[in-house]
This record gives sequence, structure tokens and C-alpha cells, in this order.
Amino acid sequence: MASLSAGPSLTCSAAVTVTLAALSMLPHSHLSLAVPTEHSWLPDDEPVTILGPVQPQDSEVDAKWTRNDLNSTSKIKTQAETNLLPEDITKNPVERDPGASPATPPSTDEVTEDTTEQGAKDTQEGNGTQGDPAGSNPEMRLPGNVKPLHYVIKLQPFINGNTSVHGFMEVEIEVLERTQTITLHGDKMDCDMNSVKLVASDKKRIVLDSIVIDYRQQFMVIRLNSTLEANRRYNLSMSFNYYLLEEPKGAFKTQFTNSAGMLSAVASTLLQPVYARRAFPCFDEPGLKATFDIHIAREKHMSAISNMPLLDTTPMEGQEGWVVDRFNTSVPMSTYQVAFVVSELGYLNCTMQRDVQIRVWARPELLPLTTYAQALVPRLFKFLEDYLGVPYPLPKLDIVTLPSSFPIAFEAWGLILNYDENVILYDAETSTQEHKTKLATLLAHELAHQWFGNLVTPFWWTDFWLSEGFASYFATLALREVEPSWKMEERMILKTLHEVFRHDGLLNHPALRIPMFNPSDPHGAFSRITYQKGESIIRMMNGFLTEDSFRKGIVSFLRAKKYKTATSDDLWHHLTLQAHLDGTLSRDMSVKGLMNTWTLQVGYPVVKVVRSPDGTSANVTQKLYLARGPFDRNDTLDHKWWIPLTYTSQGEADFSRTHDITWMKDSEDSITITNLPPKDQWVIFNLQETGYYRVNYDDHNWDLLTQQLKNDHRVIDVKNQVQLVDDVMNLGVAGDLSFRVVLDLINSLKNTTDLNGFVVISNLEYMNLMLSSTPIYEKFQRFLLSLLAPLYANLGLSNGAPSTFGSHVEYPEVVRWACEFGHPDCIARAKSAYKQLMKDPENSSRIPEVLKPTVLCTAIARGGPNEWAFAWSRYLKAPEKEKQKYLVALGCTRDSLIRDQFITETLGKSHYLPITDAMYIINSLSSHPLGGPTGWTFLQSHWDVVTNTIGDQYYFIKVLLEMATKSFNTEEQRLKVQEFLQCHVIDEATTRFLKPVVSQTARNVAWMHRNYEVISQWLDENGFSDINI
Ligand SMILES: [Zn+2]
Repeated sequence: MASLSAGPSLTCSAAVTVTLAALSMLPHSHLSLAVPTEHSWLPDDEPVTILGPVQPQDSEVDAKWTRNDLNSTSKIKTQAETNLLPEDITKNPVERDPGASPATPPSTDEVTEDTTEQGAKDTQEGNGTQGDPAGSNPEMRLPGNVKPLHYVIKLQPFINGNTSVHGFMEVEIEVLERTQTITLHGDKMDCDMNSVKLVASDKKRIVLDSIVIDYRQQFMVIRLNSTLEANRRYNLSMSFNYYLLEEPKGAFKTQFTNSAGMLSAVASTLLQPVYARRAFPCFDEPGLKATFDIHIAREKHMSAISNMPLLDTTPMEGQEGWVVDRFNTSVPMSTYQVAFVVSELGYLNCTMQRDVQIRVWARPELLPLTTYAQALVPRLFKFLEDYLGVPYPLPKLDIVTLPSSFPIAFEAWGLILNYDENVILYDAETSTQEHKTKLATLLAHELAHQWFGNLVTPFWWTDFWLSEGFASYFATLALREVEPSWKMEERMILKTLHEVFRHDGLLNHPALRIPMFNPSDPHGAFSRITYQKGESIIRMMNGFLTEDSFRKGIVSFLRAKKYKTATSDDLWHHLTLQAHLDGTLSRDMSVKGLMNTWTLQVGYPVVKVVRSPDGTSANVTQKLYLARGPFDRNDTLDHKWWIPLTYTSQGEADFSRTHDITWMKDSEDSITITNLPPKDQWVIFNLQETGYYRVNYDDHNWDLLTQQLKNDHRVIDVKNQVQLVDDVMNLGVAGDLSFRVVLDLINSLKNTTDLNGFVVISNLEYMNLMLSSTPIYEKFQRFLLSLLAPLYANLGLSNGAPSTFGSHVEYPEVVRWACEFGHPDCIARAKSAYKQLMKDPENSSRIPEVLKPTVLCTAIARGGPNEWAFAWSRYLKAPEKEKQKYLVALGCTRDSLIRDQFITETLGKSHYLPITDAMYIINSLSSHPLGGPTGWTFLQSHWDVVTNTIGDQYYFIKVLLEMATKSFNTEEQRLKVQEFLQCHVIDEATTRFLKPVVSQTARNVAWMHRNYEVISQWLDENGFSDINI
């Protein structure tokens, strides 16, 4: 094919270069000053400030808390004083860190002032048998020489004033190792150093030597004149001030307009992962659990809620109009689980569950829209309590919808916080099923966290898949039970398993358990791998352990580790014990041995099944799945897994035997499976797609499966139909399978209207992008429309809302493809809706919100300058959150002059590049092969502006380049990309970092080279060259 010819020779012209070294010298945005004060914990020019010597002083702090307030409540309450805690907590209030050495007896050795980095790691992580296998950055960890037992936190947020917060913190600590220093966290706050006080249990004041503030590590290091002995307890206290933030990264403020038209302020928190240190000085690591007494001062007309129920309210001395709410002593919690809300929000009571009070909070006028949540939560709650066999330990649970639009939610213990008001609100008249599913999934996820994350907390961020993976798994399970018609397990396969397969297969993400310090890193504790791979491998364990054994093992784990922290090894231990007891795993195997291959390695395997000539046996092999194919990976990863093989055959067609396992060991290159049926009957592996792996077969078995789908696809379980489609497509894209086999199989499903039809279409976007600028595109489009037409017809758009499964949630996607692939009815409807909008711009609500992107893009792509100009005028007027929708749609134009004008007007006018806008625009342009070169040309000609603006966020440079070139698939284009980067990126590290940009085009070129002729021939042979088909 002509596009495979060689490109021009390499010549460099421009002089602007970019290097990682240069970029890294730019100032970091997080170092900006916020509240400069004399002894602030905010960074200034010096990374470390040493204050001292500090003498004990009797003068109280200059805070809004009066002396009486402080004196009356500063006594540390013992566990026995509370009658709220379950009995077993009071017996063992705070665990010792897993793996930490037992507290050593006092030593006569000289005390060294600082623990070493390795010492810190050893203390925190133990001997390596239970802790983080690869370690975290030890210098960022607390030294582990003391542990907190109980905090008293008092906060007075002036939310209707200057948004400052006056605070006081007192913590009882136990010394684990002799020390002359105490290190704790603090960030973005101003601590009154004269208020810092350390008192022994015999009330004797300990003299402080100095206080070191380390801004980089966010540490406050208190140096003492004397040595603290192990096993002794002390009270550390101090006062502090800070301002409420504007975003949920600590204590923050938001507001809403109430029914009287007045602004009403709300103070709230998001302290995960590392923002508790911005709300109060503390030992801010998840493994350091303690109990908390929270006191919140508020103005009388407002209300305050926290993790625990209100204990009492008292007037604040000397401050007219203010009262102090004191909350019951908490169960042992990690610092990130602390939360409070001060507001004028209202609430609805839910049906009581046992003696637990559940309330749903929102703006008073929006409470009627929380009735679905109000009805759903008690049902989910009951299911989780019954299944897990461990009662929810708190007397209450509040679920709060804050008046903000941050797309997050958080599971604070006893106080679930949702930061996006639009998600929880549900209007039966206008909300979509997709919205309802999203809402329910979010609530179920946060509820499940009350056990996984709160009751049992991962010891360190490395193991947060134990929190997020289980919360996701139990959300699916609870909704499968509570809303059975939603088919949540099938949805999980589509939206979780297949999605994470696509990402994990690129080998861009680290393994599930990673050596990681910074939990805010997008590839860190809260990546899609943590959530989606976590949920997927938990489902796999359920498959091979059996439901009964899995459940008992989980219950045993929860009961053993409740109110404590845990590592993956703890989970493996309990599951192994149960599996051996039940005989679901042989005694010579352990869950840890199997699962380490899934949690410590990147990617996942593809299992190849090749049957013997008579069909009755099969040779089974495993290898790492490479989504990009083998050509761009010189470093061959020799990964192998313990793979739970399950299978059935045409004669049996029993898809329920997910627990009937043949293990393929990580030491085995191949195994032979016997007793299979004769060669004229198919076999299928990975029943119900419970295993986290793909399956490939010999061509003959693929043919048998294709015939079965064509004759009667219902013989195969729907989950395995979905698996076949996703596997065959992705094996084809990876170069593991001929596209002739791929196209035969998906063509056999062209008359189906259920889930597998949806999966077929969702897998064709890459092919569409590759082929849309080639001579065979018209034929390919006919093939696409033949697959899509039954699905589209099944939506029943002319008869109101779609009804069948697969369409009720996914229907916006089907409509998007129909319009993009040129379905005449879809295009006509979109154009008509747009015409109406142009006539009556203020009445855009007639177009369902979920269809707006499709309507706008289709009308602009198929229209002319008038349609584009109308959208441009709307873009200019639109409120901030609407603008992006128009930006994306404006990039759909197929007119090259308009495209040039668009990019010049939006990105090309200033010396500054709005990065988010640039991403929307360039991605939108490049989604159509005609638009790709426009984005690429812009980036080339504005390279200096791009690199100067983006600075040290060089990740964005890579993303922008990948977006701009994603449709490039000729050798000429590959050489141009390579040449440009060779000329403009000079250092080795950056070149390596940007290598995926060139690799992407190289992969596309190889894909075309391998498949173009095969696809072209197949389309001809199957009648798609006939225009009348
Ligand atoms: Zn979560």
C-alpha cells in the first residue's frame, strides 16, 4: 500500500529544545505561600526552620478557645470513660503496628537523636514479612519511635468571617523506643510554638530543646532536653491556626444560595490521603490509628456533624452567639478518616437499621431529590451487615451531599461525604438510568468502605487495593442483590474488567502492590489499577475458592483485624486457613503463593489453548499479554502466573463450574489437558470470565465457536459471549490472531441486540480510527452499520425511552456510534435537534443531557459555517463547566479552514497555553483523521509556548503529543514525528520519556501493515463492497 513508502530524510530546523532537567528547575506550584506568618508551617525560602530553645511557658495560647474551654476538656479521656465503644475495643484500644518490634525495655545505651532512614523503615515495616514488600520512601515516613493513642481536637472555623480556623490539639502518645525527639505532621498551618507542651503521665512538664519545621517532609520535629523512655505515656498539646481551603484537600469552604437568596457557607473536610496534617497536627499515616474526641465551635444557627454522635452542646465563654459541640469518643481511626461538616444543610431520616440512625443531608430545598438515596442506603446497609457478619460499629451514619461539584466522594467513618451535588440527587422524571446506576454504585462503594478501609485499614498506601478493591467488589455484590434487574455482574465485566484489561495490557501502570511513597501520585494508591484490577482479582479469588469458602475467609479476616490495620499477607493468611479447612485449596498451596503472582507483577497473561488433531486433548501455554504487540518491547518480561483454568465444552455447556479448577503453575511453560470432546465440538476456557486473563485458541476452535454464535449464541453464557468478543478483538489488535478470525467471529453476532452486540461495537473504535482515511473505509463503514443497525433499532428512540438491557445504560454510546458511523436516522435526528436549538438557544433542555455531545458534534461535523458559528457563540457565553462540551464539539468540524481558525482563536493567541483546553481541543480534532494534522501542526509551530507553559508537568507534553498523533499510521508520519522529537528534545531522559509518542505511531504502522490487506479482502469476500448491501 502506498502509505507504507519511506518518508523524507531527517533535517532539523527549529532551535527550541526541552529537557527534563531544565523543566525540573521551574518552581513547583505547591510551594506557593498562602498565609505567611512568623512561625508558620507554611513553606518559605528555607526548607527547614529551627526554632529554639523553647522554654516552658505558662501563658495560654492566643486562640479563640478561652482558658476555661481548654482546661475543662484538655484532660485525655481514657477508654474506660466511654460507654459508646464496643467491648472488644476497650480491651485492646489501639493495636501495635503490624511488623513493628515489641516495645523494647529501657536501654542504657546512648540515645541517638534521629533514627536512620533504614531504622525508620524497619520500625514501620517490620521484618519484611508483613509490610510493604518493596518499601516506601523511608525518609518521608515518621520514625516510629512513638505512637498516638488518643487525640482531643478542637476547631473553631470562622466560615462566615475571614475563613480562619483556630485549633487546639492534644494527643496522648506512647513511647515505643527511647528517644529525644517526637516527629509529627503539619502542613499549611501556623502553629503557636509557645503553646507546644509535653507532659508526662505524672503531670511533670518535659523541657523542650527546639522545634524543627521541615516543609518538604511536612514534619514538625520536637527536640527534647531529656530522653523519653519506652513504654511511658505523655500528653503533647499545641494550638494552631489556618485558613479554610477552597478545594477539598484538607478543611475547606464551599457555599450555596439558600431559599432566601442569601449565601450560606459550609465548612467540611477531605483528609485522604495526606491532608489530615492540614486540619490538625497529627501522626498522619494510615497505620497509626487512635481514638478521637472532636469538638467543633459553631455559630448557633448552624449545625455541626462529625464521625460520632453529638455528646453535648455548651455555650462558648466570652463569645456571644457561639456554642461548642462535643462529639462522642470515636472508635480507633486513622487520621484520614476524621471528618466534620458545619453548615445549614437539612436532612432526612432513613429507616432505622438495628439501632443505627442513618440520615441523608443536602441543601434543604433539594432534600426531595435525595429520596432514592434515602430508600436505597438502608437496603445496602442490611445486605453488607448480613453478608459480612460483622455489625457496623457506630450508632449513626450520616451521608452528606455538599453544595459543590468536585467529582469525588469519601467514606469518612460514620460520615460519608459526597462532593458533587449532582450525583446524589435523583429525579425520577428526568434522571437517566445511567445516573441512577452511578449514584447507587457510589453509595454502595462508600458504604462498603465502612468495613473495608475504616474497620480494617491498610497499614500503608501500598495495600490500599484492600480498601478500594473490596469497596468496589462489595458495591457490585450489594447492588446485584438489591437491584437484580441491573445485571451488575455483566456490567462489572464491561465497565471494570474489560476497561482495566485495556490499560493493564499497555504495561504503563505499576503492579497492584507498588513501592510507593506519594499516595497522591496518579499512578499510586488511587489509580484504576487499585480499584479495577483490585476488584477483578477479588472476583477471581471468589471463583477459585468458592463463594462459601471466600465469604468465611473474608469474615474471619474482618473479625481478626477489626479496629486494626492489615496488609495483603493478613488477607492471604485468613483465606488460606479457610480454604485448607474447606478443602477448596490443596494443603501444599497457599493463597499468598498464588496471588503474589497477580499483585506483584504488572500486566496479565494470555492463555493459548491448542487442541490435538482429534480434539480430545489440548496443549495450554501462558505468556504476558502485550496490547501493543511484541515489536516495541525489547525488554521481554518473563512473567508467569498461577492461573485458575476453568473450561466447558459443547456437549456439556455448563458455565457454572467456576470453582472446578485446573491450576497452571507459574513454573510451568505448558500443561496438557485431556478428556476434551472430539474435534468437531468447541471448548471454551475461563468460565464466566472470572479469571483475570485472556484466552486464545487454535483457528479450528475459533471457527467452532463462531459457528455456535451464528447458529444460537444463547447456548454460551452471556458473560462468556462478552469475553469471546473482547478477547478476539484485543488479540487481533495485539497481533496474536488473524483479523480474518476476528471479523468472522464478530460478524456472527450481527443480529444480536443485547450486551454482546454492544461489546462488539465498543471494540471497533480503534479499527475505525485506523481505516477512516483509507480507500476501504466506505466498505468498512457498511460493515459497521450492519452491526450497529439492530442495536440502534432496538433502542426504540421513536417510542420513548429505551427498555432492553444493554441499551438502558449504554444507549448514549450506541447513539454516538450510530451518528459517527453515518447512520442516516441518527444523523437526521441530531441535525433536527440542533436546528431547534439554533432557533431557540435558551431552551436546550429538550436535548437529553447525555445526548448533547453527540448532537453537537454530529451537527457541526455534517453542517457548515453557520452551525459552527452558532456553537462558537454558545461557547463564548457558556458558564465555565459548559464550555468544555462546546470546545469538544467545535473540534468535530471537517472544514480545514474552520479548524485552523478554531485552533488559532482558542490556543494560538497568547503566550500561555491553557492546558486543559488544549487537551480537549487537540483530542477532539485528532479523533477524526482529517483533524489530526491540525493539532500536530499547531504543537510544532507553538512548541516554545507549549513547553514554556507546561513547565515541569512534562507528562502533559507527552499526552498532548500522543493525542495529536493518535490517528497517524503511515511510515511517513512516523518519520516526521521521530524527526521532530529528535530535533527538539535533546537529553536522554526526556527522549526516553517521550518514546511512547513515536512508539504509538510505529504500532499503528505495524498494525496497518499486518492487517490492512486481510481486512480489505475479508470485506470483499463478505459482500461489503456491494453498495446495495
Ligand atoms: Zn473508595
